[in-house]
Amino acid sequence: MKPAVAIEVITFDLDNTLWDVDPALLRAEQVQREWLLQHRPGAIDAYDHEGLWEFKKSVWKRHPQLLHNVSQMRIQMLYELQLAAGYAEQESRSGAEKAFDAFLQERHKVVLYEEALGVLEQLAGRYTLGALTNGNADIYKTDAGEYFDFAFLAEDIGASKPHPDMFHAALERSGVEPAQIIHVGDNPEHDIQGAREVGLRTVWMNSQDTEWPGGERADREIANLRQLPGAIASLDTP
Ligand SMILES: [Mg+2]
Repeated sequence: MKPAVAIEVITFDLDNTLWDVDPALLRAEQVQREWLLQHRPGAIDAYDHEGLWEFKKSVWKRHPQLLHNVSQMRIQMLYELQLAAGYAEQESRSGAEKAFDAFLQERHKVVLYEEALGVLEQLAGRYTLGALTNGNADIYKTDAGEYFDFAFLAEDIGASKPHPDMFHAALERSGVEPAQIIHVGDNPEHDIQGAREVGLRTVWMNSQDTEWPGGERADREIANLRQLPGAIASLDTP
């Protein structure tokens, strides 16, 4: 048996782990739509939710190289929407940037779970905290930013969880052994399977009381962040 090592680092997924992402995403989509309606009439007016989704999927198909960059992918979609409506290339480019800025500003207005700040403060007193997200949320734009020592976005790394590069970035940054990191996240594949395969310890955040989809389970499971310090303590065997 390998000797037990003490936990040094806790890495967090962000969306649906520290906050519900849907309210912020819905508002951000709305703000983006309003920007286009006002500044690029005709670009989005004809699309309902379903139609826009189909358009989005067609952009994904044509630009697989952008799959790990949700920001660039959205800008490309906004650009093509305007081109398709007859706007000139330059106008479509600048419109895509501005509509995206409007989106992102709203996207960052996430509401942390009410227990999150207290739990993060408690953990930050003892562990190094990091963020690993496939989305474009910026932890440093939230009230929780002060507790985080590092944050990696998939679009910076060039790969999305469960790809090992995301977890390797945390290992390199913190200079510890894989078993000294606990990764906390809500997605069984991206967060739990991905972290396990690199040798990290794992906590599954299952706030929606969903069924485990199969495969190796996380080391611990929690339904609320309040349970996290206890779960971590039970894995931390110096
Ligand atoms: Mg998540």
